[in-house]
Amino acid sequence: MIIKLKKNIESRVLDEMKLQLNAFHIKKDTQDLLITSSGIKELPSVFEKNIDDQWVFDSDMQLSSKSFQNTKTEIDLGTVKIGGNTNNTVLIGGPCSVEAEEQIESSAKLLKELNLSILRGGCYKPRTSPYSFQGLGKEGLMLLSEMREKYGLKIISEVRDATHVKDVIEHTDIIQIGAKAMYDQGILRACAQTQKPVMIKRGFGTSLQEFTQAAEFVLSGGNPNVILCERGIRTFETKTRFTLDLCGVAWLQEFSNLPIILDPSHAMGYAYGVPALTKACLAMGVDGLIIEAHPDPKEAKSDASQQLNHQEFKKLHQELVPLANSLGLNLV
Ligand code: PEP
Ligand code: MN
Repeated sequence: MIIKLKKNIESRVLDEMKLQLNAFHIKKDTQDLLITSSGIKELPSVFEKNIDDQWVFDSDMQLSSKSFQNTKTEIDLGTVKIGGNTNNTVLIGGPCSVEAEEQIESSAKLLKELNLSILRGGCYKPRTSPYSFQGLGKEGLMLLSEMREKYGLKIISEVRDATHVKDVIEHTDIIQIGAKAMYDQGILRACAQTQKPVMIKRGFGTSLQEFTQAAEFVLSGGNPNVILCERGIRTFETKTRFTLDLCGVAWLQEFSNLPIILDPSHAMGYAYGVPALTKACLAMGVDGLIIEAHPDPKEAKSDASQQLNHQEFKKLHQELVPLANSLGLNLV
């Protein structure tokens, strides 16, 4: 249940309500809200005089639901906006991992040349094997910060575990919580304590209910700036790396108020399929696309098979612009 409190509520009453209802208290646009479990369907009558409005839910998808907030959340990065009532589709590009200054600078120049705004690059890689490249860590974040300064780009990079969450929050413009990390409540709670935008990637075995509940951890902790990212789920099919759940995207668009970014690169796993899949994603009218591109994909230290080379990325961009226009979207 979400409860909108009266403006002049006494702090003593607020504390009592929080305690009795086991509720989270957040401020949303100057408004005081209490959020309880969705199991609570009715407010004890003693509290009724203290409230302006209330919403009852049948699941713990509450703050992220359209039935609470019918308008899409806007993520304001200053130079670029995602979601809200903009018609923007952000095209985020860059390598899977930041590997070296020359490599990430080449990616930054590519985005600049295409007038795009957000550079991706992982520094703390959640690898399946401990023997694979694990990322440059803090050194990588510093290289990304340099690219922000030099090229005026916004930066997105992932947090793998709670040991470096503070560094990722400090040095990025959007914090990416990876598909494997999205169940880590230490990370989710740390990201709730900032106002920096957070992009949560759906785990490959995660139901839509669990996915939106991960978002609720961040929202109910006080950070309204959450983006959902569909990046493919695991099915019986093994010819492609994962299966991109566009039905799930349609469901999220219908029932959630959060902006949605799609990641065809990780879903497909092979560069040959990424351009066509990206067009299908754009046709869903989503708020963003995140595509891996590397100056020399065969030498990439992670996800080599799925990264586009820069020529391929430029060609894809060229093809996406008219498609975006025909859909009434601005590719930014
Ligand atoms: C990535 O974006 O490079 C990545 C590791 O993504 P995911 O968490 O979706 O596997
Ligand atoms: Mn990757």
